[in-house]
Amino acid sequence: MADDKKRRVLLKLSGEAFGAGSLGVNPDVIAALAREIAEAARSVEIAVVVGGGNFFRGAELSQRGMDRGRADYMGMLGTVMNALALQDFLEQAGAETRVQSAIAMTQVAEPYIPRRAERHLEKGRIVIFGAGAGLPYFSTDTVAAQRALEIGADAVLVAKNGVDGVYTADPKHDPTATKIDHLTYQDALRRGLKVVDSTAFSLCMDNRMPMQVFGMQPDGNVKAALLGEPIGTLVTH
Ligand code: UDP
Repeated sequence: MADDKKRRVLLKLSGEAFGAGSLGVNPDVIAALAREIAEAARSVEIAVVVGGGNFFRGAELSQRGMDRGRADYMGMLGTVMNALALQDFLEQAGAETRVQSAIAMTQVAEPYIPRRAERHLEKGRIVIFGAGAGLPYFSTDTVAAQRALEIGADAVLVAKNGVDGVYTADPKHDPTATKIDHLTYQDALRRGLKVVDSTAFSLCMDNRMPMQVFGMQPDGNVKAALLGEPIGTLVTH
């Protein structure tokens, strides 16, 4: 990497974190997150993919009788609301931002144009990708991997709510589970460890994209990960 080239990262934030456990957005949580991201953006190029689990998850709605495709579009629209909330608090924290949506809605967001997103990043703007991939049956984890690849990010940073990395077993059920600091994609497959969903995992593995999985708590963790500190679990080729 040339000296003048900044680190570029793709940060995946789950919708669950935005809602702090309930439906809708919790402004205090988003404001605190936005301050950390805005501070890191002074030295790192940051793109963000936001989830929508605090509004709707298509798979859950379809189990309760809705058509899956329509439910997934509702899920994607939820991610746009999160993107706008994050944009607002990032701007209050002094950052320049752009939202790009995979579903056309020109009054509130630019369309997803990868080359334009890269130009925004080069100019120091934080780019927030909303509406997932615009495709039913996808998750925002998969979109995070795909966007990271397309904009040439150095890593995907997956911020988790309630867990601080990848464990040898599910720590909620197995008290002997320990956190793993470094893992290869092959190790994770061999040991059956679930890092992100399988489509996101394969995209990163096949394209040698490093992934860092870390906890959003305590305060300061998101900024630390953005700045390259080795918190959580690093998954590499
Ligand atoms: N979704 C989709 N296609 C995408 C991204 C998301 O259909 O490309 C829908 C899907 O229904 C998903 C919902 O949007 O359940 C919210 O996204 P996700 O579950 O990934 O959010 P998170 O769990 O990260 O909050």
